[in-house]
Amino acid sequence: MSTTLYRKYRPVTFSELIGQKHVVQTLKNAVKTGRIGQAYLFAGPRGTGKTSIARIFAKTINCQHLKNGEPCLKCDSCQNILDNRALDIIEIDAASNTGVDNIRELRETVKLPPSSLKYKVYIIDEVHMLSGGAFNALLKTLEEPPTNVVFILATTEVHKIPETILSRVQRFDFTRLTIEEIINRLEEIAKLEKVKVDREALEIIASSSEGGMRNAESLLGQVIALEDKKITVKEVEFILGTVSEKFTAEFVDLAIQKKYAEVFAKIGELREMGIDFKNFAKSLLNYLRQMLVLKINPDLGQKLSYEITKERLEQIKKQITNIETEEILNFINILQENTEKFKSSPIPQLFLEVSIAKLAAKQSGHPMSIIPVKDDPPVKKEIVQKNASSDVFGHRMSKDSQVQNIPPAAEKNKSASKNTSADIDLITSNWSEIIESLKSYNHSLSSVLKMSSPALIDGNYLILKTKYDFYKEKLVEMTNRLTIEKAIDKITGVVLKLKPVTEKELSEEYPNFKEKKSLMQEAVDIFGGKIV
Ligand SMILES: [Zn+2]
Repeated sequence: MSTTLYRKYRPVTFSELIGQKHVVQTLKNAVKTGRIGQAYLFAGPRGTGKTSIARIFAKTINCQHLKNGEPCLKCDSCQNILDNRALDIIEIDAASNTGVDNIRELRETVKLPPSSLKYKVYIIDEVHMLSGGAFNALLKTLEEPPTNVVFILATTEVHKIPETILSRVQRFDFTRLTIEEIINRLEEIAKLEKVKVDREALEIIASSSEGGMRNAESLLGQVIALEDKKITVKEVEFILGTVSEKFTAEFVDLAIQKKYAEVFAKIGELREMGIDFKNFAKSLLNYLRQMLVLKINPDLGQKLSYEITKERLEQIKKQITNIETEEILNFINILQENTEKFKSSPIPQLFLEVSIAKLAAKQSGHPMSIIPVKDDPPVKKEIVQKNASSDVFGHRMSKDSQVQNIPPAAEKNKSASKNTSADIDLITSNWSEIIESLKSYNHSLSSVLKMSSPALIDGNYLILKTKYDFYKEKLVEMTNRLTIEKAIDKITGVVLKLKPVTEKELSEEYPNFKEKKSLMQEAVDIFGGKIV
């Protein structure tokens, strides 16, 4: 579903592209003056338009009726390329297993003239993944390039490209998209999809996408697929497990004004919202970093346009008039130190509570005076009662997460293993069905899931045990995580956030966890024998 949204709105002409104006201008000029290069290298982060531009360029140099330097989209060449039917446009994904074979094949076929188009175009994505042998083969080809062949190499890691290749290509560096560019594009897509999304909600999606349009579109797709025709900030915060910049700004504001009781209430709010505290720590640190940067040099605001909107920039500028550089540094130091220190704490928000307490102590000079605040966050209980039976969408929350939300933080770990058996059993017994349901959506994700198993439920989190770091990284990716969470909800009705851990981490974080044996295995253990 998310990939379809991405494909559906993939730009097909230069004018539909967002950002990368410098690249587009140079390529258009090359077409206009008829000086088409033999080899190009597109370097830059994921989702910044490298392959989109490569395809548009392939269309442009082959189009029979160019219009103002844009492909007409109507001639045979354009149509064939648009429908992926053009034999002369060869796309190779160097990251896939077939990459090596493709390069071998390339060496044999590259000398043949184009079959129907004017130019044969090789688009090699993730070119840095090629093996040494494949690079040599590519280099040989680039040294004596046949006529009417254009190579477009794309990479996210240009430092891994050998110097010999770099010296033979025309290089373009793709930049991250600014937050405003991403938000505007998402707004357009939402309109076309006839879905109403708050601008602030789009801001959360945009800042979670780390400058990549593909990530942003894919997240928007996830959100649209999950929800109704009107999407609010609260819903997006819940789905992505992250808070809005506005929330972070308010949090910092309260801390600056030394309203610590209210800061603690906000921490309670975060917990009830099921926000991942590690995510929040990252947002908070980043926000403080932005404050620091602007405090030291207000002119650097322009540079921050990749991260924050104009409104947010103005807000930070106002905030820094009320705080000294030293205080910002203090906050950063305390937060960073305690994030590290409490990394393996079973109480996810502890690092934050300790940080705020320390900050308060440092500012007041009376450490004892703020301690009572910590144990009595009055707002928290109200929120618990309000939200106890359902989340923001009225989904049934896992039975365990309701129980878990009520005891104070220190009690949490003790009861972590209680009352979770029903839901974990439900998920375990439906596990193969969940994997099966993901197969058509993403085959590789379902194979990674086959190598993982639900271990236990901790608060709002389903702890998923997986064998290797590599699998864990795959599962942690936001779009994958959301897809799995949705599949679990759909099949079992249990709403949980996914937390993949390796076997090693599982035994460190949950030393009391014991693998549940199947009934069959238990019988075998008791009576001896073998399963046949
Ligand atoms: Zn055309």
